[in-house]
Amino acid sequence: MKRREFCAGAAVALAGLSLAPWRKAHSASDVAIAGLDGRPQTVKSSEVEELRAGLRGELLVPGDADYDAARRLWNPAYNRKPALIVRCVGAADVMHAVSFASAHALLTAVHGGGHSLSGLSACDGGLMIDVSPMRAVAVDPLTRRARVESGALLGQLDRESQAFGLATTAGTVADTGVAGLTLGGGVGRIGRRFGLTCDNLISAELVTADGKWQRASAQENPDLFWALRGGGGNFGVVTCFDFQLHEVNPQMYGGEISFPMAGARELLRHFADYLASAPDELYVDVDLEGNDKLGRLLTFDVCYSGPVSDAPRVLAPLRKLGKPVKDDLAPTTYLKLQGSAYTPGVSKFGVYVRGGLIYGLTPALIDAVTGLVEAAPSNLLDVWMQQQGGVISRVAPTATAYWGRGASHNMGLAGAWPVGSPDAERNTEWVRHAWAQVEPLTRGNYVNIANTDDRESRVAAAYGDNYARLTTLKKRYDPANLFRLNANIKPAA
Ligand SMILES: Cc1cc2nc3c(=O)[nH]c(=O)nc-3n(C[C@H](O)[C@H](O)[C@H](O)COP(=O)(O)OP(=O)(O)OC[C@H]3O[C@@H](n4cnc5c(N)ncnc54)[C@H](O)[C@@H]3O)c2cc1C
Repeated sequence: MKRREFCAGAAVALAGLSLAPWRKAHSASDVAIAGLDGRPQTVKSSEVEELRAGLRGELLVPGDADYDAARRLWNPAYNRKPALIVRCVGAADVMHAVSFASAHALLTAVHGGGHSLSGLSACDGGLMIDVSPMRAVAVDPLTRRARVESGALLGQLDRESQAFGLATTAGTVADTGVAGLTLGGGVGRIGRRFGLTCDNLISAELVTADGKWQRASAQENPDLFWALRGGGGNFGVVTCFDFQLHEVNPQMYGGEISFPMAGARELLRHFADYLASAPDELYVDVDLEGNDKLGRLLTFDVCYSGPVSDAPRVLAPLRKLGKPVKDDLAPTTYLKLQGSAYTPGVSKFGVYVRGGLIYGLTPALIDAVTGLVEAAPSNLLDVWMQQQGGVISRVAPTATAYWGRGASHNMGLAGAWPVGSPDAERNTEWVRHAWAQVEPLTRGNYVNIANTDDRESRVAAAYGDNYARLTTLKKRYDPANLFRLNANIKPAA
Protein backbone atom coordinates (compact mmCIF):
# COMPACT_ATOMS: atom_id res chain seq x y z
CA MET A 1 0.00 0.00 0.00
CA LYS A 2 1.49 3.27 -1.00
CA ARG A 3 1.56 6.76 0.25
CA ARG A 4 -0.55 9.06 -1.89
CA GLU A 5 -3.42 6.90 -2.03
CA PHE A 6 -6.18 6.73 0.45
CA CYS A 7 -8.98 7.99 2.43
CA ALA A 8 -12.57 7.98 3.46
CA GLY A 9 -15.91 9.11 4.43
CA ALA A 10 -18.49 10.58 6.56
CA ALA A 11 -18.30 13.00 9.43
CA VAL A 12 -19.50 12.05 12.88
CA ALA A 13 -23.02 13.34 13.21
CA LEU A 14 -23.21 16.21 15.64
CA ALA A 15 -26.85 17.09 15.34
CA GLY A 16 -27.39 20.79 15.67
CA LEU A 17 -23.91 21.39 17.00
CA SER A 18 -21.97 24.42 15.89
CA LEU A 19 -18.21 24.46 16.32
CA ALA A 20 -18.20 28.11 17.26
CA PRO A 21 -19.22 27.63 20.87
CA TRP A 22 -16.23 25.44 21.88
CA ARG A 23 -14.74 27.64 24.49
CA LYS A 24 -11.27 27.72 25.90
CA ALA A 25 -11.20 25.49 28.93
CA HIS A 26 -8.68 27.59 30.77
CA SER A 27 -11.03 30.52 30.77
CA ALA A 28 -13.56 30.46 33.56
CA SER A 29 -16.35 29.31 31.26
CA ASP A 30 -17.91 25.92 31.09
CA VAL A 31 -17.12 23.88 27.97
CA ALA A 32 -19.64 22.74 25.37
CA ILE A 33 -18.64 19.24 24.31
CA ALA A 34 -20.19 16.42 22.33
CA GLY A 35 -21.57 13.49 24.25
CA LEU A 36 -21.41 9.87 23.16
CA ASP A 37 -24.58 10.27 21.14
CA GLY A 38 -23.11 13.32 19.37
CA ARG A 39 -25.40 15.77 21.14
CA PRO A 40 -23.88 18.82 22.87
CA GLN A 41 -23.58 18.90 26.60
CA THR A 42 -21.79 21.11 29.07
CA VAL A 43 -18.81 20.22 31.23
CA LYS A 44 -18.11 22.60 34.08
CA SER A 45 -14.94 24.65 33.91
CA SER A 46 -13.93 23.31 37.34
CA GLU A 47 -14.11 19.75 35.96
CA VAL A 48 -12.02 20.67 32.95
CA GLU A 49 -9.47 22.26 35.26
CA GLU A 50 -9.46 19.09 37.32
CA LEU A 51 -8.72 17.12 34.15
CA ARG A 52 -5.88 19.49 33.30
CA ALA A 53 -4.43 19.43 36.82
CA GLY A 54 -4.30 15.63 36.82
CA LEU A 55 -2.19 15.39 33.67
CA ARG A 56 1.57 15.28 33.17
CA GLY A 57 0.91 16.00 29.50
CA GLU A 58 -1.02 18.92 28.04
CA LEU A 59 -4.70 19.63 27.65
CA LEU A 60 -5.30 21.56 24.44
CA VAL A 61 -8.38 23.52 23.45
CA PRO A 62 -9.22 25.45 20.27
CA GLY A 63 -7.03 28.52 20.05
CA ASP A 64 -4.03 26.94 21.83
CA ALA A 65 -0.80 27.21 19.86
CA ASP A 66 -0.40 23.43 19.38
CA TYR A 67 -4.09 22.64 18.92
CA ASP A 68 -4.15 22.56 15.11
CA ALA A 69 -1.00 20.46 14.80
CA ALA A 70 -2.30 17.98 17.38
CA ARG A 71 -5.69 17.43 15.75
CA ARG A 72 -4.38 17.16 12.18
CA LEU A 73 -4.52 13.68 10.64
CA TRP A 74 -2.53 12.15 7.81
CA ASN A 75 -5.61 12.31 5.60
CA PRO A 76 -6.49 15.97 5.03
CA ALA A 77 -9.94 14.95 3.79
CA TYR A 78 -10.79 15.21 7.47
CA ASN A 79 -10.51 18.48 9.33
CA ARG A 80 -12.04 17.57 12.65
CA LYS A 81 -12.04 19.87 15.63
CA PRO A 82 -12.24 18.24 19.06
CA ALA A 83 -13.35 20.37 22.00
CA LEU A 84 -10.53 18.95 24.13
CA ILE A 85 -7.30 17.16 23.24
CA VAL A 86 -5.41 15.29 25.94
CA ARG A 87 -1.78 14.85 24.91
CA CYS A 88 -0.83 11.84 27.02
CA VAL A 89 2.76 11.26 28.09
CA GLY A 90 2.19 8.11 30.14
CA ALA A 91 -0.32 5.52 31.30
CA ALA A 92 -1.46 7.77 34.17
CA ASP A 93 -2.57 10.43 31.69
CA VAL A 94 -4.44 7.83 29.66
CA MET A 95 -6.20 6.50 32.78
CA HIS A 96 -7.15 10.03 33.79
CA ALA A 97 -8.44 10.92 30.32
CA VAL A 98 -10.44 7.71 29.87
CA SER A 99 -12.00 8.09 33.34
CA PHE A 100 -13.00 11.66 32.44
CA ALA A 101 -14.46 10.55 29.10
CA SER A 102 -16.42 7.73 30.74
CA ALA A 103 -17.68 9.81 33.65
CA HIS A 104 -19.06 12.44 31.27
CA ALA A 105 -20.02 9.98 28.50
CA LEU A 106 -18.07 11.99 25.92
CA LEU A 107 -17.64 11.35 22.24
CA THR A 108 -14.07 10.03 22.32
CA ALA A 109 -11.48 9.59 19.59
CA VAL A 110 -8.17 7.78 20.15
CA HIS A 111 -5.14 8.96 18.20
CA GLY A 112 -1.99 6.89 17.74
CA GLY A 113 0.02 7.53 14.58
CA GLY A 114 -2.81 9.52 12.94
CA HIS A 115 -2.97 7.38 9.76
CA SER A 116 -6.62 6.44 10.05
CA LEU A 117 -7.91 6.33 6.49
CA SER A 118 -11.40 7.24 7.64
CA GLY A 119 -10.34 10.08 9.93
CA LEU A 120 -11.75 8.47 13.05
CA SER A 121 -8.80 9.28 15.29
CA ALA A 122 -10.11 12.83 15.63
CA CYS A 123 -13.69 13.94 16.25
CA ASP A 124 -15.75 17.08 15.95
CA GLY A 125 -16.62 18.59 19.28
CA GLY A 126 -15.61 15.63 21.48
CA LEU A 127 -12.53 14.52 23.39
CA MET A 128 -9.42 13.31 21.57
CA ILE A 129 -7.07 11.09 23.57
CA ASP A 130 -3.74 11.48 21.83
CA VAL A 131 -0.96 9.03 22.68
CA SER A 132 1.37 10.24 19.94
CA PRO A 133 3.80 11.87 22.44
CA MET A 134 4.46 8.33 23.80
CA ARG A 135 6.98 7.02 21.28
CA ALA A 136 9.67 5.08 23.12
CA VAL A 137 10.90 1.87 21.47
CA ALA A 138 13.27 -0.40 23.42
CA VAL A 139 14.67 -3.54 21.81
CA ASP A 140 16.17 -6.33 23.89
CA PRO A 141 18.37 -8.23 21.44
CA LEU A 142 18.87 -11.10 23.90
CA THR A 143 15.20 -11.97 24.31
CA ARG A 144 14.42 -10.64 20.81
CA ARG A 145 11.60 -8.51 22.06
CA ALA A 146 10.59 -4.91 21.50
CA ARG A 147 8.69 -2.84 24.02
CA VAL A 148 6.92 -0.13 22.06
CA GLU A 149 4.88 2.76 23.35
CA SER A 150 1.62 3.19 21.50
CA GLY A 151 2.40 6.50 19.83
CA ALA A 152 5.44 5.06 18.04
CA LEU A 153 5.59 4.94 14.26
CA LEU A 154 6.53 1.87 12.25
CA GLY A 155 9.79 3.42 11.05
CA GLN A 156 10.91 3.84 14.65
CA LEU A 157 10.21 0.18 15.42
CA ASP A 158 11.96 -0.94 12.22
CA ARG A 159 14.98 1.28 12.89
CA GLU A 160 15.52 0.09 16.45
CA SER A 161 14.99 -3.56 15.54
CA GLN A 162 17.17 -3.62 12.41
CA ALA A 163 20.07 -2.16 14.41
CA PHE A 164 20.25 -5.70 15.88
CA GLY A 165 19.42 -7.54 12.64
CA LEU A 166 15.90 -8.09 13.94
CA ALA A 167 12.39 -7.10 12.82
CA THR A 168 8.76 -7.93 13.15
CA THR A 169 6.03 -7.46 10.56
CA ALA A 170 5.15 -3.81 10.02
CA GLY A 171 3.16 -2.02 7.32
CA THR A 172 4.77 -0.72 4.17
CA VAL A 173 4.80 3.01 5.01
CA ALA A 174 7.20 4.07 7.76
CA ASP A 175 5.16 6.84 9.36
CA THR A 176 2.03 4.77 9.91
CA GLY A 177 1.31 4.27 13.62
CA VAL A 178 2.15 1.01 15.36
CA ALA A 179 -1.05 1.19 17.43
CA GLY A 180 -3.82 1.36 14.84
CA LEU A 181 -1.99 -0.97 12.47
CA THR A 182 -1.33 -3.65 15.10
CA LEU A 183 -4.80 -3.58 16.64
CA GLY A 184 -6.47 -4.03 13.25
CA GLY A 185 -4.04 -6.76 12.10
CA GLY A 186 -0.94 -5.40 10.37
CA VAL A 187 0.04 -6.55 6.87
CA GLY A 188 3.49 -5.87 5.47
CA ARG A 189 6.56 -6.93 3.54
CA ILE A 190 7.63 -9.74 5.87
CA GLY A 191 4.14 -10.78 6.98
CA ARG A 192 4.17 -13.89 4.81
CA ARG A 193 7.21 -15.08 6.79
CA PHE A 194 6.23 -13.99 10.29
CA GLY A 195 2.47 -13.46 10.28
CA LEU A 196 0.50 -10.29 10.90
CA THR A 197 1.88 -7.64 13.23
CA CYS A 198 -0.76 -8.70 15.76
CA ASP A 199 0.44 -12.32 15.51
CA ASN A 200 3.76 -11.11 16.89
CA LEU A 201 2.20 -9.40 19.87
CA ILE A 202 3.30 -10.94 23.16
CA SER A 203 1.36 -8.58 25.39
CA ALA A 204 -0.33 -5.20 25.40
CA GLU A 205 -0.97 -2.80 28.24
CA LEU A 206 -4.14 -0.80 27.97
CA VAL A 207 -6.68 1.31 29.78
CA THR A 208 -10.21 -0.04 29.47
CA ALA A 209 -13.38 2.06 29.47
CA ASP A 210 -13.62 1.90 33.28
CA GLY A 211 -10.32 3.81 33.44
CA LYS A 212 -8.42 0.76 34.74
CA TRP A 213 -4.99 -0.33 33.53
CA GLN A 214 -4.80 -3.94 32.37
CA ARG A 215 -2.23 -6.19 30.80
CA ALA A 216 -3.39 -8.65 28.16
CA SER A 217 -1.29 -11.64 27.14
CA ALA A 218 -1.70 -15.39 26.75
CA GLN A 219 -1.52 -15.64 30.55
CA GLU A 220 -3.27 -12.45 31.70
CA ASN A 221 -6.74 -11.55 30.45
CA PRO A 222 -6.40 -14.02 27.54
CA ASP A 223 -9.85 -13.14 26.17
CA LEU A 224 -8.89 -9.50 25.93
CA PHE A 225 -5.58 -10.49 24.34
CA TRP A 226 -7.50 -12.49 21.75
CA ALA A 227 -9.78 -9.51 21.01
CA LEU A 228 -6.96 -6.99 20.71
CA ARG A 229 -5.33 -8.98 17.91
CA GLY A 230 -7.53 -7.72 15.09
CA GLY A 231 -10.39 -6.16 17.06
CA GLY A 232 -9.10 -2.64 16.40
CA GLY A 233 -9.51 0.18 18.90
CA ASN A 234 -12.71 -1.27 20.37
CA PHE A 235 -11.43 -2.47 23.73
CA GLY A 236 -9.45 0.35 25.29
CA VAL A 237 -6.54 2.70 24.83
CA VAL A 238 -3.31 0.77 24.48
CA THR A 239 -0.32 2.38 26.14
CA CYS A 240 2.38 -0.17 25.32
CA PHE A 241 2.98 -3.24 23.14
CA ASP A 242 5.51 -6.06 23.53
CA PHE A 243 6.46 -7.69 20.24
CA GLN A 244 8.33 -10.82 19.30
CA LEU A 245 11.18 -10.00 16.91
CA HIS A 246 12.82 -12.29 14.38
CA GLU A 247 16.23 -12.48 12.77
CA VAL A 248 15.84 -10.54 9.53
CA ASN A 249 18.81 -9.90 7.28
CA PRO A 250 18.91 -6.13 6.59
CA GLN A 251 20.07 -6.92 3.02
CA MET A 252 17.15 -7.59 0.72
CA TYR A 253 16.16 -7.30 -2.93
CA GLY A 254 13.21 -5.29 -4.14
CA GLY A 255 11.70 -2.12 -5.52
CA GLU A 256 9.15 -1.51 -8.24
CA ILE A 257 8.63 -2.92 -11.70
CA SER A 258 5.94 -1.37 -13.93
CA PHE A 259 4.22 -2.41 -17.13
CA PRO A 260 1.86 -0.47 -19.42
CA MET A 261 -1.86 -1.03 -18.80
CA ALA A 262 -2.29 -2.34 -22.32
CA GLY A 263 -1.80 -6.05 -21.87
CA ALA A 264 -2.36 -5.89 -18.09
CA ARG A 265 -5.17 -8.46 -18.18
CA GLU A 266 -3.04 -11.12 -19.82
CA LEU A 267 -0.05 -10.26 -17.71
CA LEU A 268 -2.01 -10.47 -14.44
CA ARG A 269 -3.30 -13.92 -15.39
CA HIS A 270 0.28 -15.17 -15.75
CA PHE A 271 1.21 -13.30 -12.58
CA ALA A 272 -1.54 -15.18 -10.70
CA ASP A 273 0.08 -18.47 -11.79
CA TYR A 274 3.49 -17.19 -10.68
CA LEU A 275 2.14 -16.20 -7.24
CA ALA A 276 0.65 -19.65 -6.71
CA SER A 277 4.12 -21.04 -6.02
CA ALA A 278 5.66 -17.92 -4.43
CA PRO A 279 7.88 -18.63 -1.40
CA ASP A 280 7.02 -16.94 1.91
CA GLU A 281 10.08 -14.72 1.44
CA LEU A 282 8.49 -13.12 -1.62
CA TYR A 283 5.98 -10.29 -1.17
CA VAL A 284 4.48 -8.49 -4.13
CA ASP A 285 1.89 -5.71 -3.97
CA VAL A 286 -0.07 -5.04 -7.14
CA ASP A 287 -0.93 -1.44 -8.02
CA LEU A 288 -3.00 -0.33 -10.97
CA GLU A 289 -2.53 3.39 -11.09
CA GLY A 290 -2.04 6.48 -13.18
CA ASN A 291 1.32 8.16 -13.68
CA ASP A 292 1.51 11.66 -15.14
CA LYS A 293 4.55 10.84 -17.30
CA LEU A 294 4.04 7.17 -18.10
CA GLY A 295 0.23 6.96 -18.23
CA ARG A 296 -1.77 4.16 -16.63
CA LEU A 297 0.47 1.47 -15.24
CA LEU A 298 0.47 -1.93 -13.65
CA THR A 299 3.14 -1.83 -10.95
CA PHE A 300 4.48 -4.60 -8.75
CA ASP A 301 6.02 -3.43 -5.49
CA VAL A 302 8.41 -6.22 -4.59
CA CYS A 303 10.31 -7.32 -1.51
CA TYR A 304 12.33 -10.53 -1.53
CA SER A 305 13.68 -11.19 1.94
CA GLY A 306 15.41 -14.50 1.22
CA PRO A 307 19.12 -14.69 0.29
CA VAL A 308 19.91 -11.78 -2.05
CA SER A 309 21.85 -14.11 -4.35
CA ASP A 310 18.64 -16.10 -5.00
CA ALA A 311 16.57 -13.05 -5.90
CA PRO A 312 17.37 -12.74 -9.64
CA ARG A 313 16.33 -16.37 -10.14
CA VAL A 314 13.16 -16.02 -8.04
CA LEU A 315 12.17 -12.79 -9.81
CA ALA A 316 13.11 -13.80 -13.38
CA PRO A 317 9.54 -14.98 -14.23
CA LEU A 318 8.15 -11.67 -12.98
CA ARG A 319 10.52 -9.73 -15.21
CA LYS A 320 9.55 -11.90 -18.18
CA LEU A 321 5.82 -11.21 -17.80
CA GLY A 322 6.07 -8.33 -20.28
CA LYS A 323 8.18 -5.39 -21.38
CA PRO A 324 8.57 -3.17 -18.31
CA VAL A 325 8.52 0.60 -18.65
CA LYS A 326 10.36 0.81 -15.36
CA ASP A 327 12.41 -1.78 -13.47
CA ASP A 328 14.22 -0.68 -10.35
CA LEU A 329 14.35 -4.10 -8.71
CA ALA A 330 17.80 -4.32 -7.14
CA PRO A 331 19.68 -5.25 -3.97
CA THR A 332 18.65 -2.89 -1.20
CA THR A 333 17.99 -2.90 2.53
CA TYR A 334 14.83 -3.60 4.46
CA LEU A 335 14.94 -0.11 5.98
CA LYS A 336 15.20 1.49 2.53
CA LEU A 337 12.21 -0.46 1.26
CA GLN A 338 10.22 0.35 4.39
CA GLY A 339 11.17 4.02 4.09
CA SER A 340 10.66 4.24 0.33
CA ALA A 341 7.26 5.88 0.76
CA TYR A 342 8.25 7.99 3.75
CA THR A 343 7.10 11.58 3.63
CA PRO A 344 6.43 12.54 7.22
CA GLY A 345 3.37 14.40 8.34
CA VAL A 346 0.16 15.08 6.52
CA SER A 347 -0.59 13.80 3.03
CA LYS A 348 -0.78 16.46 0.30
CA PHE A 349 -3.78 14.58 -1.02
CA GLY A 350 -7.16 14.02 0.46
CA VAL A 351 -8.04 10.38 -0.06
CA TYR A 352 -11.11 8.18 -0.08
CA VAL A 353 -10.80 4.40 0.09
CA ARG A 354 -13.04 1.37 -0.01
CA GLY A 355 -11.64 -2.09 0.41
CA GLY A 356 -12.25 -5.79 0.84
CA LEU A 357 -10.51 -9.14 0.94
CA ILE A 358 -9.98 -11.26 -2.14
CA TYR A 359 -9.20 -14.93 -2.41
CA GLY A 360 -7.04 -15.16 -5.51
CA LEU A 361 -6.58 -13.05 -8.63
CA THR A 362 -9.42 -14.63 -10.56
CA PRO A 363 -10.06 -13.81 -14.25
CA ALA A 364 -13.31 -12.03 -13.26
CA LEU A 365 -11.50 -9.85 -10.74
CA ILE A 366 -8.67 -9.08 -13.16
CA ASP A 367 -11.17 -8.05 -15.85
CA ALA A 368 -13.11 -5.88 -13.43
CA VAL A 369 -10.19 -3.95 -11.94
CA THR A 370 -8.27 -3.44 -15.16
CA GLY A 371 -11.46 -2.21 -16.86
CA LEU A 372 -12.10 0.24 -14.05
CA VAL A 373 -8.60 1.69 -14.03
CA GLU A 374 -8.45 1.95 -17.83
CA ALA A 375 -11.69 3.93 -17.81
CA ALA A 376 -10.93 6.00 -14.69
CA PRO A 377 -11.45 9.71 -15.30
CA SER A 378 -8.27 10.77 -13.53
CA ASN A 379 -4.75 9.56 -12.80
CA LEU A 380 -5.41 10.05 -9.09
CA LEU A 381 -7.45 6.89 -8.87
CA ASP A 382 -6.02 3.50 -8.24
CA VAL A 383 -6.49 -0.05 -7.14
CA TRP A 384 -4.04 -1.91 -4.96
CA MET A 385 -3.84 -5.50 -3.85
CA GLN A 386 -1.65 -6.08 -0.84
CA GLN A 387 -0.41 -9.63 -0.62
CA GLN A 388 -1.24 -11.79 2.39
CA GLY A 389 -0.93 -15.60 2.54
CA GLY A 390 2.11 -17.48 3.83
CA VAL A 391 2.26 -17.66 7.63
CA ILE A 392 -0.74 -15.29 7.89
CA SER A 393 -2.93 -17.98 6.35
CA ARG A 394 -1.51 -20.78 8.50
CA VAL A 395 -2.97 -19.30 11.70
CA ALA A 396 -6.51 -20.50 12.44
CA PRO A 397 -9.14 -17.77 11.80
CA THR A 398 -10.45 -18.23 15.34
CA ALA A 399 -6.99 -18.05 16.99
CA THR A 400 -7.19 -14.24 17.10
CA ALA A 401 -9.94 -11.74 16.33
CA TYR A 402 -8.49 -11.23 12.81
CA TRP A 403 -10.71 -13.43 10.67
CA GLY A 404 -9.60 -13.05 7.05
CA ARG A 405 -6.73 -15.54 7.25
CA GLY A 406 -7.38 -17.29 3.98
CA ALA A 407 -7.43 -14.16 1.84
CA SER A 408 -4.71 -13.86 -0.76
CA HIS A 409 -4.81 -10.05 -0.70
CA ASN A 410 -6.52 -7.09 0.82
CA MET A 411 -7.70 -4.93 -2.02
CA GLY A 412 -8.33 -1.20 -1.87
CA LEU A 413 -9.79 1.29 -4.33
CA ALA A 414 -8.57 4.79 -3.73
CA GLY A 415 -9.40 8.21 -5.04
CA ALA A 416 -7.13 11.12 -4.20
CA TRP A 417 -7.18 14.85 -4.84
CA PRO A 418 -4.85 17.76 -4.07
CA VAL A 419 -6.07 19.54 -0.96
CA GLY A 420 -8.69 22.13 -1.88
CA SER A 421 -9.20 20.80 -5.41
CA PRO A 422 -12.69 20.38 -6.87
CA ASP A 423 -11.73 16.80 -7.82
CA ALA A 424 -12.65 15.61 -4.33
CA GLU A 425 -16.25 14.89 -5.20
CA ARG A 426 -15.57 13.42 -8.63
CA ASN A 427 -12.84 11.06 -7.39
CA THR A 428 -14.84 10.00 -4.35
CA GLU A 429 -17.79 9.25 -6.59
CA TRP A 430 -15.57 7.13 -8.86
CA VAL A 431 -14.48 5.04 -5.88
CA ARG A 432 -18.08 4.51 -4.79
CA HIS A 433 -19.14 3.57 -8.30
CA ALA A 434 -16.12 1.32 -8.87
CA TRP A 435 -16.54 -0.31 -5.47
CA ALA A 436 -20.14 -1.24 -6.23
CA GLN A 437 -18.82 -3.20 -9.20
CA VAL A 438 -16.05 -5.09 -7.44
CA GLU A 439 -17.56 -5.59 -3.98
CA PRO A 440 -19.37 -8.77 -5.11
CA LEU A 441 -15.94 -10.20 -5.96
CA THR A 442 -14.68 -9.67 -2.39
CA ARG A 443 -15.42 -11.60 0.79
CA GLY A 444 -15.08 -9.83 4.11
CA ASN A 445 -12.75 -6.92 4.66
CA TYR A 446 -9.76 -5.68 6.59
CA VAL A 447 -10.86 -3.19 9.24
CA ASN A 448 -7.76 -1.02 8.86
CA ILE A 449 -9.00 -0.14 5.41
CA ALA A 450 -12.58 0.19 6.66
CA ASN A 451 -14.47 3.32 6.06
CA THR A 452 -17.07 5.35 7.88
CA ASP A 453 -19.36 4.60 4.95
CA ASP A 454 -19.15 0.95 5.90
CA ARG A 455 -22.35 -0.49 7.21
CA GLU A 456 -22.46 -2.39 10.48
CA SER A 457 -22.91 -5.54 8.45
CA ARG A 458 -19.50 -4.94 6.88
CA VAL A 459 -17.88 -4.82 10.32
CA ALA A 460 -19.59 -8.11 11.14
CA ALA A 461 -18.37 -9.52 7.82
CA ALA A 462 -14.80 -8.51 8.67
CA TYR A 463 -14.96 -10.70 11.76
CA GLY A 464 -16.91 -13.68 10.41
CA ASP A 465 -17.47 -16.35 13.07
CA ASN A 466 -15.45 -14.28 15.57
CA TYR A 467 -17.99 -11.47 15.62
CA ALA A 468 -20.33 -12.93 18.24
CA ARG A 469 -17.43 -13.49 20.67
CA LEU A 470 -16.21 -9.96 20.03
CA THR A 471 -19.61 -8.44 20.83
CA THR A 472 -19.66 -10.38 24.13
CA LEU A 473 -16.18 -9.12 25.02
CA LYS A 474 -17.14 -5.61 23.98
CA LYS A 475 -20.02 -5.80 26.43
CA ARG A 476 -17.66 -6.91 29.17
CA TYR A 477 -14.94 -4.33 28.57
CA ASP A 478 -16.83 -1.40 27.04
CA PRO A 479 -20.57 -1.77 27.75
CA ALA A 480 -21.37 1.89 26.95
CA ASN A 481 -19.41 1.69 23.67
CA LEU A 482 -17.13 4.56 24.68
CA PHE A 483 -14.64 3.43 22.02
CA ARG A 484 -16.98 3.71 19.04
CA LEU A 485 -14.96 5.79 16.60
CA ASN A 486 -13.50 2.78 14.82
CA ALA A 487 -14.79 -0.21 12.84
CA ASN A 488 -17.28 -0.49 15.63
CA ILE A 489 -18.17 -3.74 17.35
CA LYS A 490 -21.44 -3.14 19.18
CA PRO A 491 -21.73 -4.55 22.72
CA ALA A 492 -23.88 -7.69 22.80
CA ALA A 493 -27.46 -7.04 23.87
C1 LIG B 1 -0.20 5.73 4.00
C2 LIG B 1 -0.81 4.52 4.65
C3 LIG B 1 -0.23 3.29 4.46
C4 LIG B 1 -0.77 2.17 5.07
N1 LIG B 1 -0.16 0.95 4.86
C5 LIG B 1 -0.62 -0.14 5.52
C6 LIG B 1 0.05 -1.40 5.38
O1 LIG B 1 1.03 -1.54 4.67
N2 LIG B 1 -0.43 -2.44 6.09
C7 LIG B 1 -1.53 -2.34 6.89
O2 LIG B 1 -1.90 -3.33 7.51
N3 LIG B 1 -2.20 -1.17 7.01
C8 LIG B 1 -1.77 -0.08 6.34
N4 LIG B 1 -2.44 1.12 6.46
C9 LIG B 1 -3.67 1.18 7.26
C10 LIG B 1 -3.30 1.40 8.74
O3 LIG B 1 -3.02 0.14 9.32
C11 LIG B 1 -4.45 2.04 9.51
O4 LIG B 1 -4.78 3.26 8.92
C12 LIG B 1 -4.11 2.22 10.98
O5 LIG B 1 -5.29 2.44 11.70
C13 LIG B 1 -3.16 3.37 11.23
O6 LIG B 1 -2.78 3.40 12.57
P1 LIG B 1 -2.41 4.79 13.29
O7 LIG B 1 -2.07 4.50 14.69
O8 LIG B 1 -1.42 5.53 12.45
O9 LIG B 1 -3.78 5.53 13.13
P2 LIG B 1 -4.64 6.52 14.03
O10 LIG B 1 -5.30 7.40 13.04
O11 LIG B 1 -3.86 7.16 15.10
O12 LIG B 1 -5.67 5.53 14.68
C14 LIG B 1 -6.55 4.76 13.90
C15 LIG B 1 -7.48 4.04 14.85
O13 LIG B 1 -6.73 3.10 15.61
C16 LIG B 1 -7.20 3.08 16.95
N5 LIG B 1 -6.09 3.46 17.83
C17 LIG B 1 -5.04 4.25 17.57
N6 LIG B 1 -4.23 4.32 18.63
C18 LIG B 1 -4.77 3.55 19.58
C19 LIG B 1 -4.40 3.19 20.89
N7 LIG B 1 -3.29 3.65 21.47
N8 LIG B 1 -5.22 2.37 21.58
C20 LIG B 1 -6.36 1.90 21.05
N9 LIG B 1 -6.76 2.20 19.80
C21 LIG B 1 -5.97 3.01 19.08
C22 LIG B 1 -8.37 4.04 17.01
O14 LIG B 1 -9.57 3.30 16.81
C23 LIG B 1 -8.14 4.96 15.85
O15 LIG B 1 -9.34 5.49 15.30
C24 LIG B 1 -1.93 2.27 5.87
C25 LIG B 1 -2.53 3.52 6.05
C26 LIG B 1 -1.97 4.63 5.44
C27 LIG B 1 -2.63 5.97 5.62
